[in-house]
Amino acid sequence: MSYIQVKDASEIQVPTNPTIAYIEGDGIGPDISKAAMAMINASVEMAYHGQKVIEWKRVMAGDEAYETTGKHLPQESLEEIKRCVVAIKGPLTTPVGEGFRSLNVTLRQYFDLYANVRPVKYFPGVPSPVKEPEKMDMVVFRENTEDLYAGIEWKYDSDEAKRLRHYLEESFGVKLTDDTGIGIKPISRYKSQRLVRKAIQYAINNRRKSVTLVHKGNIMKYTEGAFKEWGYEIARKEFADSTITEDEYLKSPGTASWKIVLKDRITDNMFQQVLTRTSEYDVIATTNLNGDYLSDALAAQVGGLGLAPGANIGDVYAIFEAVHGTAPKYAGMDVANPTSLTLSGVMMLNYIGFKEAAEILEAAIHEAYQDQKVTQDLARQMNIKPLKCSEFGEEVIKRMIAKS
Ligand code: NAD
Repeated sequence: MSYIQVKDASEIQVPTNPTIAYIEGDGIGPDISKAAMAMINASVEMAYHGQKVIEWKRVMAGDEAYETTGKHLPQESLEEIKRCVVAIKGPLTTPVGEGFRSLNVTLRQYFDLYANVRPVKYFPGVPSPVKEPEKMDMVVFRENTEDLYAGIEWKYDSDEAKRLRHYLEESFGVKLTDDTGIGIKPISRYKSQRLVRKAIQYAINNRRKSVTLVHKGNIMKYTEGAFKEWGYEIARKEFADSTITEDEYLKSPGTASWKIVLKDRITDNMFQQVLTRTSEYDVIATTNLNGDYLSDALAAQVGGLGLAPGANIGDVYAIFEAVHGTAPKYAGMDVANPTSLTLSGVMMLNYIGFKEAAEILEAAIHEAYQDQKVTQDLARQMNIKPLKCSEFGEEVIKRMIAKS
C-alpha cells in the first residue's frame, strides 16, 4: 500500500497509487458510496490510463461498526484514516445517548479539521427556486471548531448555570433571570486566522475574484466583529501582495484586477445579497453558526442538499463527505442521489492533485444533468422518469467513456 506522506506538517506528498480511506456510511450510504466510487475510479482511469490509481481502504464506522465492535467509531478506524491522511465518507447516523453528540463532530475534533469547505455551483437542468441560479458559484469556508458549536452551554436549572448567573451578577453587575440557560461563544484570533488564511490561499490558488468575511460584528463585537478584524489582519500580514480591500479597489477600480478583493458583510445583509447580487460573491469565510445557515441556504438556491458536496479540512488531514444525512427511508433501495458524495470526490481528486480526473468527472456529471438524467429526488420535481442511483452512475461513466 502506498500512503500519502505528510511533509512539514502542512504539505502532502501523493504517490501515483495513494491509499484512500472510505467509510460507506449508514442508510443510503452503501448505495451512494458504491455509485460514487465507480464514477471516481472511472474518471481516474480515463485521465491516467493506469498510470495513477486510487487504492481504496475500507474503514468501519457507524451502525456496521457498532454491530461488530460495540463502538460506532473504533480506535482502529481513526488510526487507519490517520495513516491514509485523506478519507471520503458517506453519511453517518448520529447515535443517541452516547458520550459524544455526533461521529462527524468527533472526526472533526480528532483530526482538527478546522475548515468546513462547501462549494456551491449551479448545474444546468436542475430545478431551482430562483430565477437565475446560474449566477451562483461560491465556495464557503466555515470555521469548524469553535463558536456556539463548542458545546459550552448549561441548562437554565443546572448548578453550573446558577453559579454562572451568580458570578455574572457579583462580578459584572449582569443580572439574568433564574429561568435563563447559558451558552458561551468562544471565537479566537488563532482559529479565525487559520480559517481565513485557508480561504484566501484557496482563492489565490484557484484564481478566484474575492473573499468575503461574513460576520455579525455590529452586535457581537468581540467575537464576530473580532473575526472580521482578525481576517483583515491576516490578509495584511501574509497576503499583502495578492489581496486588496474593497475600499481600496473601489477608489481605483481595475488597477489590480488579478488581486483578490477582500470584502466584509454583516450576516443578515449577506443572506439578501446572495439572492439579489449573486454574481458579486465568490469565496466566503465565516464563523461556524453563520456558515452552517448560509451554506444550506446557498445549496437550496441551486437545487438542494442532494447535490451539495463538502469537505472537512485541517492543515493536512481531510475528510470529504456528502452534506446530506442517511435518508433512512431509502436505505438499500438504490434510489438515492449519489451526486453530493461524488462531487465531494471531485474535491478529493483536486486535493490530492488528480486534477485531470476531477475535471473529467465534474464535466460528465454536468452533462448527465443537462441531458436530464436524474434520480427520483429531482425527477419528481421535473415530472420525468427517475434513474436508480446505480443507473445515474452508469450514465455519468458512459459520458466519460464517450469523451475519452
Ligand atoms: P437527511 O439528509 O438524511 O434527509 C433529509 C431529506 O432529504 C429526506 O427527505 C431524505 O430522504 C432526503 N435526502 C437526503 N439525501 C438524499 C439523497 N442523497 N438522495 C435523495 N434524497 C435524499 O436528514 P435527516 O433525515 O435529518 O437525518 C437522517 C440521519 O442522518 C440522522 O441520523 C442524522 O443525524 C444523520 N445526518 C448525518 C449527516 C452526516 O453524516 N454528514 C448529515 C446530516 C444528517
